[in-house]
Amino acid sequence: MIIIKSPQEIELMRQAGRIVAQILSHLSKAIKPGITTAQLDTLAQRFIRSQHAKPAFLGYHGFPASICTSLNDEVVHGIPGLRRLVEGDIISIDVGVSYKGYFGDAACTFPVGTISPLARKLMDVTKNSLLRGIKKAVPGNHLYDISNTIQTFVEKNGFSVVRNYVGHGIGSAMHEEPQVPNFGLPGKGPLLQEGMVLAIEPMVNTGTWEVKTLDDQWTVVTRDKGLSAHFEHTVAILKNGPEILTTL
Ligand code: MG
Repeated sequence: MIIIKSPQEIELMRQAGRIVAQILSHLSKAIKPGITTAQLDTLAQRFIRSQHAKPAFLGYHGFPASICTSLNDEVVHGIPGLRRLVEGDIISIDVGVSYKGYFGDAACTFPVGTISPLARKLMDVTKNSLLRGIKKAVPGNHLYDISNTIQTFVEKNGFSVVRNYVGHGIGSAMHEEPQVPNFGLPGKGPLLQEGMVLAIEPMVNTGTWEVKTLDDQWTVVTRDKGLSAHFEHTVAILKNGPEILTTL
């Protein structure tokens, strides 16, 4: 069942979303060659606590950190640790918080110093696929209108969308129905209605869409070691169109 949120609930989700956006903004300024992913996690956790919010990922199915840090061929769910960022890396940071009982969830891929033209194109295409998908999050459309828009744009640009991981409904739980795939047929899937809130999150690879999980049981990497990028927003479907909640 897809849970419809009241305007009051969406206002709380706006506050949670703003905190998430602030974290990503803070981290973007700290990302430079030499910093470790664990240091980024510490910065994120400190900020979350300062806002009286809770890190949603910490302890989730045993995940040991407040953010996911996924570099280069890592797709999602990378664990922060002693790895130092190197000039030319791309790093995807995914962060979720709960605030007053409601969740916000967003991700962004950042460049570390100067990056390759391919990495730049991958980041641009992934971000734009998300923004194009969000435009389809309007009452009366079907869910897979979002999915198809993302897939079509990504594939037109020569990249692939990850199949094994998808976006999700979000509210008083981090993961609610429905699943939000980044591929699918237009006109299919549940009818979108005012009051639905979705975390839309394309994961895009330069090569094959196939992925595998490393021995740490968390880190998902591309099978062909190609680059991967990840952008995500929490989006409310309102009468007059979509509103991105994970924004400053
Ligand atoms: Mg998510």
